[in-house]
Amino acid sequence: MFDHASFDAHEGVHAFHDADSGLKCIIAVHSTARGPAAGGCRMWNYANGDAMLTDALRLSQGMSFKNAMADLPLGGGKAVIWGDPRKDKSEALFRAFGRFVENLNGSYYTAEDVGIDTADMAIVRRETRFVAGLDEGAAASGDPSPITAMGVYLGIKEVAKRLFGTDDLSGRIISVQGVGSVGGHVCEHLAREGAKLVIADIDQEALKDISAKTGATIVAPDEIYDVEADIFSPCALGAIINEKTLERLRVKGVAGAANNQLIVPEMGEFLRRKGMLYAPDYVINGGGIINVAAEISGNYSREWVDGKLTHLIETLGEVLDEALSTNQPTNSVADRIARQRIAEARTSK
Ligand code: NAD
Repeated sequence: MFDHASFDAHEGVHAFHDADSGLKCIIAVHSTARGPAAGGCRMWNYANGDAMLTDALRLSQGMSFKNAMADLPLGGGKAVIWGDPRKDKSEALFRAFGRFVENLNGSYYTAEDVGIDTADMAIVRRETRFVAGLDEGAAASGDPSPITAMGVYLGIKEVAKRLFGTDDLSGRIISVQGVGSVGGHVCEHLAREGAKLVIADIDQEALKDISAKTGATIVAPDEIYDVEADIFSPCALGAIINEKTLERLRVKGVAGAANNQLIVPEMGEFLRRKGMLYAPDYVINGGGIINVAAEISGNYSREWVDGKLTHLIETLGEVLDEALSTNQPTNSVADRIARQRIAEARTSK
């Protein structure tokens, strides 16, 4: 564990096994310096145990950074369940998971992530209070996608301001990869402001729907990287900024919702050298976790959410300005600020 390449001074890494339900689960708590560790639960058919551990370690660190940049009273953690979400789900499995979360006594709050939906979390809730992202209940925050999308839209404007001297997007060409829950809302915001959209998705229905609503031009999934646009907004997959796409992108900025857009952190520097301004993913897409944090507080308030989102986008602007004025990659600047915020919280604790 302590020699693992993705180990980053995690406070705790808990491996749980429940023989009756077959649950195999790792809950990684990266940091509780700023508050209880919060981050979703992912269910994935990992190739092996090491791939599972690597995911838990990396994702929990990412949540610490995301929560710190959104200035939330939360640390970072993540749960991963080993299994095929289409075949291996059962009530017993999620109840066992809930008991393990409860055993951590509030040092970790769980929620949905890839492979997990609100119905699964409703089962988890029967065993533990430490769960968010529910559809029902006094503080239930529901679908975070519209808030995430609002943050991404405002983030695109911050990037535009630095690139073009104005955040007015009318007439700007924006290419959007993925028009699902977040990407679809982003497109609607952009179209209302008069941006010209080029979109790609593998879901034909989603494409038709968003194109009808926004007048967007549709291109094939693989062609989105070749579109000559002002800003590229990845809202589908991770690792889409890689050696191959870097050669193809003909845009001035990259700003979208997808998690882990850079295949490796060094891609941030390569984007910078190519003159592309990148909005660090875990900063621009923090709207969703702000919404979840409001639920964890036990007293959901839309006003509080909007205030935090405004503050987050200001922080994004500061990251972009510092990176531009010091010739550093934006992701390095964001990482430094996140680490500093976590270290300060640890000291004052
Ligand atoms: P979603 O599943 O609703 O939408 C993703 C869309 O991408 C789908 O329409 C899917 O068909 C499309 N897609 C899949 N493969 C594709 C490909 N090869 N080319 C083009 N399109 C493809 O998911 P979402 O909730 O909109 O999230 C989008 C991204 O944003 C994910 O990376 C997610 O982790 C991240 N994110 C989401 C939230 C949130 O609040 N939902 C918050 C933070 C980050």
